[in-house]
Amino acid sequence: MVLAQLGGSISRAIQQMSNATIIDEKVLNECLNEITRALLQSDVQFKLVRDMQTNIKKIVNLDDLAAGHNKRKIIQQAIFNELCKMLDPGKPSFTPKKGKTSVVMFVGLQGSGKTTTCTKYAYYHQKKGWKPALVCADTFRAGAFDQLKQNATKAKIPFYGSYMESDPVKIAVEGVERFKKENCDLIIVDTSGRHKQEAALFEEMRQVSEATKPDLVIFVMDSSIGQAAFDQAQAFKQSVAVGAVIVTKMDGHAKGGGALSAVAATKSPVIFIGTGEHMDEFEVFDVKPFVSRLLGMGDWSGFMDKIHEVVPMDQQPELLQKLSEGNFTLRIMYEQFQNILKMGPIGQVFSMLPGFSAELMPKGREKESQAKIKRYMTMMDSMTNEELDSPNPKLMNESRMMRIARGSGRHIREVMEMLEEYKRLAKIWSKMKGLKIPKKGEMSALSRNMNA
Ligand code: GDP
Repeated sequence: MVLAQLGGSISRAIQQMSNATIIDEKVLNECLNEITRALLQSDVQFKLVRDMQTNIKKIVNLDDLAAGHNKRKIIQQAIFNELCKMLDPGKPSFTPKKGKTSVVMFVGLQGSGKTTTCTKYAYYHQKKGWKPALVCADTFRAGAFDQLKQNATKAKIPFYGSYMESDPVKIAVEGVERFKKENCDLIIVDTSGRHKQEAALFEEMRQVSEATKPDLVIFVMDSSIGQAAFDQAQAFKQSVAVGAVIVTKMDGHAKGGGALSAVAATKSPVIFIGTGEHMDEFEVFDVKPFVSRLLGMGDWSGFMDKIHEVVPMDQQPELLQKLSEGNFTLRIMYEQFQNILKMGPIGQVFSMLPGFSAELMPKGREKESQAKIKRYMTMMDSMTNEELDSPNPKLMNESRMMRIARGSGRHIREVMEMLEEYKRLAKIWSKMKGLKIPKKGEMSALSRNMNA
């Protein structure tokens, strides 16, 4: 996701500013210009970027800041708040309630991922105990019904559509009626998308909306559409009452900044993002953790939740302590491997931290990765306590590696590979040194501080 690059550029700009001995107008301007450049390169609309810059300058009036104020912190906070503001329209979207019938209509251009997203949205809620149903009111694209039917069948979600009927309004109304009778609590209506914004499409969308009276209209947008995002989102908003946005293909090479523009254009929040073609590659979108991650501040709330979820209670304080000391020994790696095998992919945990990636356990190759981890652990079983506890990688000379290879029945090449993996993780781990890690109860205090 190229948004990560945007985050990198912004945090570098903040870092450079922090390195300056005195923070004056010039240093602040340089930092803001750097951030502006990064946002524009990521396809965020020019006007939004300009407004953000003006707002930050208004908030951070260097002359007014009394001596003793931490200017760097105030500036960083202002940037954080402005980015959150860009992504947060200030009012939450309608949230369907379990057990009470809601109709949710999906709109978007053809190819945006609308049909796929309808099923992901249904599947997400189904897993949480809802009774969703899908209605295919896309009579324009040949094969749309088949696609929805196939996805719905796979996820065991009831669906409605027709090969014969060409009136989308009629199908939408029939489908919604049927599923209301069947007591489905989340009725999802997929409408047709076109290649471009045509008057006929908007008229049809308006009619389907009028006939089915959706509680929520979700605008689906491909994250790669770039600068066109603002206009496209606004055009949809002018025809139907868009109440939420889902941004798809965030896993690709899209710059992603268009998402920020879409929020501004529709004044509606992004509620989910699509991160792949599969049904479960779909994530709830939360502004604050997203922006903290973007700024390299790390998603502490997500990370802490994950630590509490995957690391056994009695090991948590110790792990956090080790994390803040920054010394990553082979024994810590071994213990973390045990946790992964027991409870789930480390990628999920580590991807929440600045600089971490899921290289150890690439998506879709979990089985392979597990086998690798087990292999590494067998080799580590042949290590001495000194080797496991030493933070010095130079200790592992050739004769030690040979002994470990022999002891575990593995090739020395594999031992070397395992040690490389260790070095890679240790390097990342060392970045955590000195970080103050909040305890579980302190999380809300932390977010309050960040948002104060
Ligand atoms: P529609 O025309 O808007 O209904 O779009 P589709 O749902 O048919 O999706 C178009 C293409 O985008 C399909 O190949 C989908 O598999 C793909 N797609 C949808 N969402 C995502 C996503 O989040 N990530 C990726 N990589 N592909 C996606």
